[in-house]
Amino acid sequence: MSFIDCEKVIRRPLRLRSAPLSAGFFLLILLVVSCAPSVSTAETGQTPTAVIAGEVATQPLAESEPEIRPTIAPFRFVLPTPGAEPVSGWRPPLYPVPWAVSAYDHFYFARPIAADNVNWPLAEYRYGGVFFAPNIVHTGVDIDANEGTEILAAGPGTVISADWGLFSGSAGNISDPYGQAVVLRHDFGYKGQTLYTIYAHMSEIIAVVGQHVETGDVLGLVGDTGATTGPHLHFEIRLGENTFYRTYNPELWMAPPQGWGILVGRMTDEDGDLLNQFPVEVRPMPSEVPLRKVYTYAPGAVNADPYYNENLVLSDLPAGLYKVAFEYLEKDFQFWVDIYPGQVTYFTFTDEDGFQVKAPPVPTLDFLPGTPTVIP
Ligand SMILES: [Zn+2]
Repeated sequence: MSFIDCEKVIRRPLRLRSAPLSAGFFLLILLVVSCAPSVSTAETGQTPTAVIAGEVATQPLAESEPEIRPTIAPFRFVLPTPGAEPVSGWRPPLYPVPWAVSAYDHFYFARPIAADNVNWPLAEYRYGGVFFAPNIVHTGVDIDANEGTEILAAGPGTVISADWGLFSGSAGNISDPYGQAVVLRHDFGYKGQTLYTIYAHMSEIIAVVGQHVETGDVLGLVGDTGATTGPHLHFEIRLGENTFYRTYNPELWMAPPQGWGILVGRMTDEDGDLLNQFPVEVRPMPSEVPLRKVYTYAPGAVNADPYYNENLVLSDLPAGLYKVAFEYLEKDFQFWVDIYPGQVTYFTFTDEDGFQVKAPPVPTLDFLPGTPTVIP
């Protein structure tokens, strides 16, 4: 039964009689239940909930039954319109920071938007994505939020910049693509290198340069200053140096929701060259629940993690079994991975050797992030 059929059935007013009412009401419930799966598509991932509205039916009763008067307003069921958001709007609380199950993980940061809002990266424009022009790669993640939403410090640190002009380097430059932005230099680093976080496109800056902030302190408000198509927070992690060229994927630095994990991959051709902007589908099994589409990084000013050396990250996956599928050189590939609570599941794909689902080799004792490995 299609969605439209359901609507027709559901919107027909009820005749209120005692026994037929309960039978009719029961039938209606069945219809609603049987209709529901058709609305829960792979696109929406939302399980529709029947909403009861106490609206009085306007259809007059037939002439032959004038003595029957409704004593309560008939119920009308309204199904929600499927939205575009591909994942559930509910997530468990985050793991406490710093969160690192393995010695090479570094989920040091809380999320810069509070949990009563969407606080996860926009799926269509992740780190390494391309939107504005083919040669401009995304050096952070975007978190969708209404203008005026509070932007929070992702970790303790000192405000070292709070102005327009972060990209151009000229303070007060109102044509700067970052708009009004705040930079924090954190109280902790990684492997001896300084960590910075960037909060861009603010409508209003609240923090001031020199101020020390704790995790969760308000730095400013969400806006759409700079190069944006609407209000959101652009969030970056920089390591070693506070420059555009030293960013890393925030999805490997923000603590995951409890019980959820992260898929990290390195995909190359048979020569070991990275597959760029390569589409991959990640589908929870069983497959009734929605799939996620993720792309490998585009070439440009993005850096792979010094340990994982990845070009694909998909965070916020509830623990469980997933099918990873894509088409490569006109052949369909698929394999299955387990996602574990609070952990990274790592895979490699090389055309020749196919998949390997195991962590990278353990680095030597002198392992350091070192110089950035900008993907050419
Ligand atoms: Zn952005």
